[in-house]
Amino acid sequence: MLSLKPASTEATPCKICRQPAPLFGLVDFNRNCQIPDCVKLPLTGTPVYHRRCSACGFLFTDAFDDWSPDDFKTHIYNGGYLAVDPGYQEARPRSNAGLVQQVFGAHKATLRVLDFGGGNDVLCADLRAAGFPVAITYDPFVPEYAKPPEGKFNLVTCFETLEHMPDPVAGIGAVVANLADPGLVLFSTLLQPQNFDQLGMNWWYVGPRNGHISMFSRDALNKAWRVHGCQTGSFNDNLHVAFRTMPEFAKHLLGRTVA
Ligand SMILES: [Zn+2]
Repeated sequence: MLSLKPASTEATPCKICRQPAPLFGLVDFNRNCQIPDCVKLPLTGTPVYHRRCSACGFLFTDAFDDWSPDDFKTHIYNGGYLAVDPGYQEARPRSNAGLVQQVFGAHKATLRVLDFGGGNDVLCADLRAAGFPVAITYDPFVPEYAKPPEGKFNLVTCFETLEHMPDPVAGIGAVVANLADPGLVLFSTLLQPQNFDQLGMNWWYVGPRNGHISMFSRDALNKAWRVHGCQTGSFNDNLHVAFRTMPEFAKHLLGRTVA
């Protein structure tokens, strides 16, 4: 049985900037991201209310705030998950490994890479095979890789993970805790598009069945990293970097567009 936190009609503090976040809209629990070739799941009859911050535009749901990691595993990251995220196992990590090699391959000998939220280690296995000396996967939802990493890493990758975090400020803090200084986080999460006000809850990226519960505006993204002393930069609406001190190996990225 799904047990969600009841939606209060009062505005609650934004999870990023603490300003009032009133109710914004709702979707069925089974609403999944509209990825081509994905199944359309039957309605569950369980509505998932979302809120949007009046100040930073952060879109989130607090319906799962009382869930334990086991609840997420039972209801979202379960046997049905692959049907709503078919790129999770192979296609996306291989493509991301290619991106990391393309952008940082020339400096690989100096890099200690941590893939945060890396799922099945496919990305890091590709990097190790390509000659990256240290490439370690950490993912609290995957038992084989749930052991917290030791030491600091000068390149932390974090693909398609922030939107899954029930407490994104704390989650980003966990990413930053592993980051050397100087050091760079290369991460992806899709920002709300220009026409978000027209799309509202019809935006394709909204999908509690995919575990998408924290969806950032650019302002929300900047503010969330700033809590941990990090600046952010973006190559596009999906691919970003964060850093306290920009490391030498990444300075060639300044002013450049990747992907
Ligand atoms: Zn906010």
